[in-house]
Amino acid sequence: MEVFKGTKIVNGIAIGKIKLYKPAVYEINEELVSDIAGEIERFEAARVKVQEDQNALYDKEMKAGHKDTAGIFEAHAMMLDDEDTLIDPCKEIMAEGHTAEYAVREAFDAAAQAFSEMEDEYFRARSADVVDLKNSMLDVLFGADTSSLQGTEPAILVAEDLAPSETVKLDKSLLLGLVTRLGSSNSHTAILARSMNWPTLIQCHDIADDWDGKFAILDGYNSCIYIEPEQDIIDKLSAKQAEDKRKEEELQKLKGQPSVTKDGRKVRLYANIGGPKDIKAVIENDAEGVGLFRSEFVYLNSKTDPTEDAQFAAYKQVLEGLSPRLVIIRTCDIGADKTIDYMNLDKEENPALGFRAVRICLTRTDFFKRQLRALLRASAFGNLGIMFPMIISKWEVVKCKEILNECKKELEAEGVAIGKYEIGIMIETPAAALCADELAEEVDFFSLGTNDLTQYTCAIDRQSASLEPFANTHHPAVLRLIRETIEAGHRHNTWVGICGELGADPTLTEDFLKWGVDELSVNPKSILPLRGNVRNVDLSKFKTESPKAEDKPEPAPAVQAPQKKGFFGRLFS
Ligand code: PEP
Ligand code: MG
Repeated sequence: MEVFKGTKIVNGIAIGKIKLYKPAVYEINEELVSDIAGEIERFEAARVKVQEDQNALYDKEMKAGHKDTAGIFEAHAMMLDDEDTLIDPCKEIMAEGHTAEYAVREAFDAAAQAFSEMEDEYFRARSADVVDLKNSMLDVLFGADTSSLQGTEPAILVAEDLAPSETVKLDKSLLLGLVTRLGSSNSHTAILARSMNWPTLIQCHDIADDWDGKFAILDGYNSCIYIEPEQDIIDKLSAKQAEDKRKEEELQKLKGQPSVTKDGRKVRLYANIGGPKDIKAVIENDAEGVGLFRSEFVYLNSKTDPTEDAQFAAYKQVLEGLSPRLVIIRTCDIGADKTIDYMNLDKEENPALGFRAVRICLTRTDFFKRQLRALLRASAFGNLGIMFPMIISKWEVVKCKEILNECKKELEAEGVAIGKYEIGIMIETPAAALCADELAEEVDFFSLGTNDLTQYTCAIDRQSASLEPFANTHHPAVLRLIRETIEAGHRHNTWVGICGELGADPTLTEDFLKWGVDELSVNPKSILPLRGNVRNVDLSKFKTESPKAEDKPEPAPAVQAPQKKGFFGRLFS
């Protein structure tokens, strides 16, 4: 038996034979040819064929509801129209008398190399796309059969790396798990593996040709693969796999069950989403609402500043698709690690402490108003919560509400229907947590953004891997701020949720409930496990000052006016 380490992307156990995938390596003739026009014609035919294939993959992924993956193929098809970067360089090489194959290899490799040297991470990642396109072009020019890379039996697929076009061609019924030598946790393969939930290991540097056909066990939990494992490992991991299956079946039984503790305390379990593509996951995982729609993804997924209509369409789709559930849409939280070229933001020394989120919105009010108008228009189609991020001061909330009201008046004057909505803020800075009493007077709800709250409280850059030894996600200062924010909210009849990653931490569920949290918003896959945790909690053993279940206000139903306070409260009540 041998055991090799890698980096886990998806948990789980895969047991079976290995199928080693090696892409074709083509011998490319470097001799000059006389029929230059003929080569250009072959090149053009291959380009059209690859473009058609990419468009077909786009359609297939869209039909399957995988919008992210579809976007990869849409981009590939567009890259093959890029005269400057790919097509003209190929034609120049062919004009010297080289074959189409030679031109593709030289020009695409040069472009891939140029991308890989770029500073911007996004452009660096495009290098893999160019290599993927080069291989597809060569497959067509060489007339290769690329219909299957998996063989005919279910197997653990092992490869150097997989291109997106290869990954989507995988037959799920034949795929037990995936191991690659290359790839990063944000590579396309990793993203696809996560969305498909395949046990996956990347960065497994010891992959060897003689693994092909051998019996193996991929242990995602321990980030390793056993080649020809011994019987005790087979027994242990087979039992773990059976337990996973049983747990998954058990979780399914929690669908439709209330999220309530043994002693009757209810909590709302909501989902965090990034856009309309996640509607399906919300429903499938039985989330009771959306506690955080990170609207910046609508901006990040657009090549230009999205128009009011484009935003309206996205928000309406989510609100309608999930009605009557409450959907909390956070206004644009751009800045720090989320940058967008078309926003032309200055480079900053400390972007996490810089011009971001509501600070941008309150400075670029036209930009902000486009989003607020889109949100207000969408409010007529479901049960909306509008949430402002990165708040530190009360005047910011007052100003946001003022601009929102300005948009409302404009829309009313235009005869546009507007529905009811709640207003809330993220509590993700120590300043906001410590001033929660004053802030609560202005809003209907708080949502604790524990990712940023931890970063700013502990002065630990959340992006930095090297600071991990210093990071403590359960730092007592953070936990105290969470508890005190919940208490402050409740003093003012403002309900309080948690939408940062800590919300899904099973070791904290009991504490959060004990402190009186009203809502936990987590990634859709964590909803059912979290419901299981909640149902196992018994708060009767604690002497708590938190309000009892019966005393807690239920979420406002879609048709009912939210309990507003302050200026907006008076307007709507
Ligand atoms: C948070 O900061 O906890 C949060 C939910 O927001 P984001 O992770 O998008 O910054
Ligand atoms: Mg945040």
